[in-house]
Amino acid sequence: MSKVKAYGAQASDAKLEALDIERREITADDVKIEIDYCGVCHSDIHQVRNDWKNSKYPVVPGHEIIGRVTQVGKNVSNFKEGDLVGVGCMVDSCQECDSCKEDPEQFCENGATLTYNSKDEHLGGHTFGGYAEQIVVDKEFVLKVPENIDAKAAAPLLCAGITTYSPLRHWNVKKGDKVGVIGLGGLGHMGVKFAHAIGAHVVMITTSPSKSEDAKKLGADEVLISKNEEDMKKQAGTFDFLLNTVPVGHDMNPYVALLKRDATMVLVGAIEPLDPVHGGGLIGGRKRIAGSVIGGIKETQEMLDFCGEHNIVSDIEMIDMQNINEAFDRVVKSDVKYRFVIDMKSLKN
Ligand code: NAP
Ligand code: ZN
Repeated sequence: MSKVKAYGAQASDAKLEALDIERREITADDVKIEIDYCGVCHSDIHQVRNDWKNSKYPVVPGHEIIGRVTQVGKNVSNFKEGDLVGVGCMVDSCQECDSCKEDPEQFCENGATLTYNSKDEHLGGHTFGGYAEQIVVDKEFVLKVPENIDAKAAAPLLCAGITTYSPLRHWNVKKGDKVGVIGLGGLGHMGVKFAHAIGAHVVMITTSPSKSEDAKKLGADEVLISKNEEDMKKQAGTFDFLLNTVPVGHDMNPYVALLKRDATMVLVGAIEPLDPVHGGGLIGGRKRIAGSVIGGIKETQEMLDFCGEHNIVSDIEMIDMQNINEAFDRVVKSDVKYRFVIDMKSLKN
């Protein structure tokens, strides 16, 4: 085991602070990574603050990890020292159940091991994420990051990227479809970029009129202010697909009304009890509300390669590790353009 510097929270109402954690020595199947950058996902905040009622402390968050390989185990042939790699929300799974065999390990029937706040099968206790100097990860959960894209702006691809790419692919969103992305935050801004790259007609659906200009720069063809009932009514029944990234339970009825007959709204944000939806709104148009969580490792690699080809990265604000508490507060106020990324060199100060 080796002691590594990290940042974490000791309780749901505590600030994140410097602490030391243990990382395992590499096994034959492991890759050891020196972390250069880590994105700040809204899920990090939910888990530090125990919003999902399953946090284990200390919580060391971080699942948008970019770094360089420093050591590999003897069974590792697809990575070598110096490679630019990424780690997302999962670091292991059973590899035997139907979900694991068919690729979407996020649905592992025995429970995928999440990058933080999951049972640590190696050391006991629970896993610690990327707000740290180093991480040791099974080779099957390490991603290759294209060298042509900006490494620090690639960090959010590992969660915000795959979480928005996967439903667009799964629901076969195609060129010319009218796609609404609800909520312009870390996930939403990636949803706009991907839907635009696929060739969809993209509508940014936001509560924040001040984000309109940015939405267009990110690739939105139109902006719809969800608080404006008149404008929402004008677009009723016109959307082929909606990607809903709102981080809390909310009134979904106005969004359901936007869908065409047989169209789907996919929830990725509100991992909590939902407000009631009027059955008539769904039944009347054979509409669907569905959910999606991150994406499998194969699909995550496909997404990274797609980003390499199309030169897609996140819009980021860099911070030092010491400024993380302020960054959390700003994310909650929707005051980030559009993802914070921590420069891990600052942890060495
Ligand atoms: P974020 O950066 O905070 O963005 C969320 C956006 O939603 C905000 O910028 C805001 O956009 C809008 N919003 C916030 N509160 C709202 C409200 N009460 N009503 C309507 N709109 C509201 O968060 P994120 O990092 O993108 O994450 C979004 C959610 O997805 C979080 O809950 C996170 O835990 C979850 N998540 C899920 C997965 C998954 O696999 N399913 C993966 C990662 C994250 P506007 O200002 O444009 O309205
Ligand atoms: Zn995340």
